[in-house]
Amino acid sequence: MKISQLDIKAQHANIRDELVKAMTEVIDSTQYIMGPQVAELEKQVAQYVGAKHGIGVASGTDALLVALMALGVEPDDIVVTTPYSFFATAGVVSRLNARPVFADIDRDSYNLDPEATRKVIASLPAADRKRVKAILPVHLYGQAADMGPLMEVAKEFGAEVIEDGAQAIGAGYDLNGKSVKVGSMGLAGCFSFFPSKNLGGLGDGGMVTCNDDAFADQVRILRVHGAKPKYYHSFIGGNFRLDTLQAAALLVKLPHLNSWHAGRQAHAAYYDEKLAGIPGLKTPSISYKRAYHIYNQYIISTQNRDQLMEFLASKDISTAIYYPVSFHEQPCFQYLGYKKGDFPNSEFAANTTLALPIYPELTTAQLDYVIAAIREFTHV
Ligand SMILES: *Cc1c(COP(=O)(O)O)cnc(C)c1O
Repeated sequence: MKISQLDIKAQHANIRDELVKAMTEVIDSTQYIMGPQVAELEKQVAQYVGAKHGIGVASGTDALLVALMALGVEPDDIVVTTPYSFFATAGVVSRLNARPVFADIDRDSYNLDPEATRKVIASLPAADRKRVKAILPVHLYGQAADMGPLMEVAKEFGAEVIEDGAQAIGAGYDLNGKSVKVGSMGLAGCFSFFPSKNLGGLGDGGMVTCNDDAFADQVRILRVHGAKPKYYHSFIGGNFRLDTLQAAALLVKLPHLNSWHAGRQAHAAYYDEKLAGIPGLKTPSISYKRAYHIYNQYIISTQNRDQLMEFLASKDISTAIYYPVSFHEQPCFQYLGYKKGDFPNSEFAANTTLALPIYPELTTAQLDYVIAAIREFTHV
């Protein structure tokens, strides 16, 4: 048996004709830039996450960048975020000449720890504390960050919350007794349609969601080089547009998203049950009450991670390491002055976590094969 980490062909098997038809329609329409499918997708995604506005952009990275620009993040401003995420989360902050300040993650959820965040901000010099424009939590692997306490911390220090929901479209969280979705809580939610996300396009794409009308307007203006009306520029924006072709493909896929989540959740429950009790191996934690985890990744943690990965590869099972190096140990962020040991939970996660295959189309026989291989490796 051969099991890949992700099998997009399997996802497309049932919707390929619809995708081809949608692509053909766009080709024949010639409305490749901001065609009607973009506005339709914006409407549907906003509705799906429970936000008032959706603004399609070219990638998840651009969603984060344009959200920070719309917030007015300026050189020397501070954005507090996690050191354990995909590069874009911190990269966009530096690209605006602002400073990423890191706070450690929670060891069980791998998400930004609210208490660590509060301490990091409180310990900044007073002048810097005033420059904290945003807290940027990532809803990592498909589980919401602990937004209630994080929003409290943001309020305490007069900062906004920008959510990195790239891996978590549809993930739920209980905010003050109300069940809400990622991307509807902070000032903005940022999503990616990179092919490996739960809602993946046929290339790059992204979306900003928000509830604030003025903020939505500003994102829309910055998306087209800061022009409103066309050729009149009050701001310096960029070309952050989502292609019509991508919007059309995503409109075909969106109606399937909940059933794909359910497939991943069923596999996760199966792994949880069958991998329980293996000494030294930790399965994912559901860290908050009534949380709704969409398992963009199913992450196990073990000290023998590298050997386990090699063993599974020898059995034709591909797994992945997200992320082997925390931001504070990346060469490009050395100028921030952090050192190894500063964020022990992030470093622990970087050294011990492994992503197992979790895509919805996996069969029980395939899951059993993965489970048997892990049990063989751990001798239980
Ligand atoms: C994928 C991802 C991004 C970036 O999205 P792109 O569409 O690849 O630009 C940002 N943050 C996180 C956490 C991601 O997983």
